[in-house]
Amino acid sequence: MKYLFFIFVVCIFSNPIQFQKKQISYKIFEDRNKINEIVLEDFDNFFTNIYNEIYENWEIKKSNFFQIQIYTNFQLWKKKFPELKFSRAGYNSEQDEFYFYFASLDDWKNSKQTIQHEICHSALAKLKPEGEKINFIIEEGFCNFQFPTGKLNFNYDKSILKLSYSDLLKKISSSTKKKEIQEYLNFSTKLFFNLKVKNIQFIKKIHLKEIDFEKIFEEFKRKEFNAK
Ligand SMILES: [Zn+2]
Repeated sequence: MKYLFFIFVVCIFSNPIQFQKKQISYKIFEDRNKINEIVLEDFDNFFTNIYNEIYENWEIKKSNFFQIQIYTNFQLWKKKFPELKFSRAGYNSEQDEFYFYFASLDDWKNSKQTIQHEICHSALAKLKPEGEKINFIIEEGFCNFQFPTGKLNFNYDKSILKLSYSDLLKKISSSTKKKEIQEYLNFSTKLFFNLKVKNIQFIKKIHLKEIDFEKIFEEFKRKEFNAK
């Protein structure tokens, strides 16, 4: 019975309601009767303003057109985005598309930092040289320091300090454990917190290899090791 109910719920939300706003094309996976146009209008205004502000501050070329998917059904969210593992938001740079799970549509108001955080990822993606893979330490460390999605937490498993840069990246990409991923996130956030990097030019220079990030990583590890 439970199983049948689940199928039924997923089916209701599987066909999204689509909205076209000036800059953004929306797919909302929610019961049509529960969609409130005013709530959506507020969300769209907030998102567009923050998006423009971040891009203008960082002098990054904005997309004229991009997409957002919003989910209010957690089962459907998990089913559609198993790769987002433990997150309730994501961004796909190939599609220039944002994904959000909100407990209800107007719950976006409790997720403002998360929205900013994802916009940060989208801005960083525009700086990435073609074909380059996402570097978790740089991306998450920088965006989480600028726009933490929760309370900043710097506790991490100190065995991370024994890993080389390439081994750490390998470990991160193969990790499936929530606790582990959280610790890598805390580590990279602390790294950027200590660096106090607010300027996106810094990330540009890393991509252009004008800054040796591996060296920064090794120096940070040394400092942390001594501080233990
Ligand atoms: Zn992130």
